[in-house]
Amino acid sequence: MTSSDRVVSASAGFVELLDTRPETLREAAADFGGLVHSPPLGVLRPRSAAGIGDALAYAGRHGIPVAARSGGHSLYGQGQAPGGIVLDLGELNAVGPVTGDRVEVRAGALWRDVLAATLPHGLTPPVLTDYLGAGVGGVLSAGGLGGASHRHGLVADSALELEVVTGAGEHVVCSPDRHSALFHAVLAGLGQVAVIVRATLRLSPAPTRVRRYCLYYSGLDGYLSDQRLLATDRRFAHLEGQVRPVPGGWTHMIEAVAAHRGASAPDDGTLLGGLSFDSAETEDLGHAEFANRVAADEEILRTTGEWRYPHPWLNLLLPEDTAASVVTGVLADPGFQDLRENGLILLYPLLTGALRAPLFRRPRGEVVLLFALLRTAAPGTAGPMVAANRAAYEYARANGAVAYPVNALPMSPADWREHYGSRWETLAEAKGVHDPHGILGRGHGMWAPA
Ligand SMILES: Cc1cc2nc3c(=O)[nH]c(=O)nc-3n(C[C@H](O)[C@H](O)[C@H](O)COP(=O)(O)OP(=O)(O)OC[C@H]3O[C@@H](n4cnc5c(N)ncnc54)[C@H](O)[C@@H]3O)c2cc1C
Repeated sequence: MTSSDRVVSASAGFVELLDTRPETLREAAADFGGLVHSPPLGVLRPRSAAGIGDALAYAGRHGIPVAARSGGHSLYGQGQAPGGIVLDLGELNAVGPVTGDRVEVRAGALWRDVLAATLPHGLTPPVLTDYLGAGVGGVLSAGGLGGASHRHGLVADSALELEVVTGAGEHVVCSPDRHSALFHAVLAGLGQVAVIVRATLRLSPAPTRVRRYCLYYSGLDGYLSDQRLLATDRRFAHLEGQVRPVPGGWTHMIEAVAAHRGASAPDDGTLLGGLSFDSAETEDLGHAEFANRVAADEEILRTTGEWRYPHPWLNLLLPEDTAASVVTGVLADPGFQDLRENGLILLYPLLTGALRAPLFRRPRGEVVLLFALLRTAAPGTAGPMVAANRAAYEYARANGAVAYPVNALPMSPADWREHYGSRWETLAEAKGVHDPHGILGRGHGMWAPA
């Protein structure tokens, strides 16, 4: 980097450098979604909470938008700051120490680093997302869903304490007992009130080996009925599922995983009792291999170049009573037929009683379903897919669904108000107190421009 590439804002007391090199701005205007490209003025790489505080205090005084970036896997520019500052937390990535049943993590770490640090202690975060290359800060901000969510809730629900810098530049340590309103506005709060610097996470005992059961169903009703049974009786440690194309229709697969207990393998008869699947496959794996299962796909897709293609993804949470009709309706929509060739459809149950972060929105009912339409677009073809996402969102919302907002989905301030429902006032109040200049998280389009 040459000196002309650097701006050191001595007046603001920045110790970090604002990197304005064209290639840096290009990278900061890119994300996993590959659909929105808004370059910032510059990128800061803070190494401390004080560095973040200086940047936010300065940006607040000048009304400059700021976006935090941990792993960079936003889908629609949510981690970008057009004409503003991107705080790249990649250097704030330390994990540890692991003490007792908890671990300290910096927000710029990736979940694969967290797992690598905890497994040698025989421990794991209770819930992991399917992909471990996402950032700690980004997943805690979204909430984080995975196969263990039916038992343990969100990834964010394992946070015991957070160190944050608010949009007002204040450095605060918060927890359920200390500055609790701020704590609850940060977890699953989409980065609207503060930048997470560090989290203390609760850990659970990790198995060394697991058995994965793939249970196949030709009918959606039988699949959903068994998913409900498995979610509520919690017999498996991990429970997900997919809808897959077959000629002339769709088939369904429950993915259920049980731990080996020491030398004993799980008892298939007990675990599969009372279910109505058509056929089953089982496989034994190391726990780490299972947790890192998407890494092999990532490697292949990076090699073919498709990892960098646009990803117009849509994640919805459906109420149980309309799930079958919404799934059937969306999958019959011509705008989603490319999913038959290229994509992944997840459909798995969650128990709303287990989802604790108050800002994580969920539909009515005890059991709800994550319906994730995950597709890859050839360059230049994503526009109609985003439009189809919007149509599917409106259709699902009219049937009681809410978005799980890690989406390539344009949402207006009115949509957000509806999304948060009775929690909107809580979020708006926290925003007013902790981000009074409205500089944080503008990429979500939550607030009308002042
Ligand atoms: C291949 C793949 C698989 C996935 N699978 C799952 C899954 O199984 N379950 C699931 O729940 N999600 C899943 N996701 C979605 C993923 O969890 C979210 O996109 C997540 O927000 C990405 O976080 P990030 O840090 O990598 O991204 P970033 O783009 O860095 O951040 C995402 C958002 O969080 C904000 N943010 C980042 N860091 C901070 C911080 N320190 N403080 C405050 N705000 C911050 C950003 O400003 C941005 O708005 C998957 C994503 C991918 C690409």
